[in-house]
Amino acid sequence: MTPDRYLDRHHADLTGFLQQLIRLRTVNPPGENYGEITALLATTLQGLGLKVRRIAIPRALQKKTQPELLDFPRYNVLGFWDTGAKQTLHFNAHYDVVPVSGQWKHGSAFNPVVAKGWIYGRGTADMKGAITSIIYALKALRETGVRPNFNVEVSFTNDEETDSLLGTGWVTDHGKLRADYAVVGEGGEGDAICCGHNGVVWLNVRVHGVAAHGSTPEKGVNALEKMSALVLAFDAYKRRLARRTFRTPDGGRMHATVNLGGVFASGEGGKVNTVPAAASFSIDRRVLPVEDIHTVERELRAFLQAAAKKIPGCRITIEKISDNYSCYHAPTHPLFGAMQKSVARVRRKPAKFMVSTGFNDMHFFAQVRKIPTLGYGPGGLDYHAVDERARVQDLVDSAKIYADLLTTFPGS
Ligand SMILES: [Zn+2]
Repeated sequence: MTPDRYLDRHHADLTGFLQQLIRLRTVNPPGENYGEITALLATTLQGLGLKVRRIAIPRALQKKTQPELLDFPRYNVLGFWDTGAKQTLHFNAHYDVVPVSGQWKHGSAFNPVVAKGWIYGRGTADMKGAITSIIYALKALRETGVRPNFNVEVSFTNDEETDSLLGTGWVTDHGKLRADYAVVGEGGEGDAICCGHNGVVWLNVRVHGVAAHGSTPEKGVNALEKMSALVLAFDAYKRRLARRTFRTPDGGRMHATVNLGGVFASGEGGKVNTVPAAASFSIDRRVLPVEDIHTVERELRAFLQAAAKKIPGCRITIEKISDNYSCYHAPTHPLFGAMQKSVARVRRKPAKFMVSTGFNDMHFFAQVRKIPTLGYGPGGLDYHAVDERARVQDLVDSAKIYADLLTTFPGS
């Protein structure tokens, strides 16, 4: 039997396994039931003959990075199938899901139902569906005795919905990976293969004024007025950004963007009859796949300092909220060509390449490990929303595509 045939015959098992994963409410934040789901995933991979490490993040490290979450321990699962090959292909997916609100039409968030070929539940699309497809691809290869061209390495990770630092970030730093290539199970879906994504730099700017009585504003320095002038100065920066574009492989154009004041605030002690002594605003700078976040941050800080200098009495401090690498790999690399063929063969339609405006964990492999990395998985609809769902056929197709890639891509 071929892996394809095997997968066609095991729709029901595959769906049942995904339902089992959905029922484990791995809501993040705060990061519930990570122990339970990683135990299940570790056992499942062991059952497929992989060498498995289920790694608990050291408490001391968690205490340093997320002290408020010590009641919710973090785990990652790593699996390795040594086929005796020279090179290793890595599959990654995160198992945490975003919190739930609202009334579901089909089943409920953690009580997944299948209706008209779709499976509903929190995490079906993002991204326990991908975990299921990865596991069933390996199962199909095992059960049919088809040997992959690679050793297969798998990581199932936590915290992607917050910052990935103890998840894929930890795994790529400390997991002793052997990956030569990586497939992250999201970013691309259907006929689209993801070969990169935007990054972000998030900053917070505090403007310091001097408080005074509201009846004598000339005795103070009004932080709101200084902040407003600073925000207006961004017009020049936006014009500069508008000229910075990235041509995607499908012929589209992406722009670098900046969004100001997603969060803005006065300082403490704000009153109608007081000259405001403090004001602050956030900056969300989307970094193009070909830009470097460190260069972007330096440039942004320099712009802010120079702009503040031109405004009399405007004193600022800049804090970093967080950042995330962008990444891009030109699809001319053979990994992408092989994936394009696998997707086209299984779906019987030509496949294309795209670059995602959002971000996922691809950059940890592409930028930190510096290996060719693509994003592709079953995907679905209504990510992070009510009635999140995945198409059963897409779950099966993705499993076929992963298995096909493992047996047709010769490596390089
Ligand atoms: Zn995701």
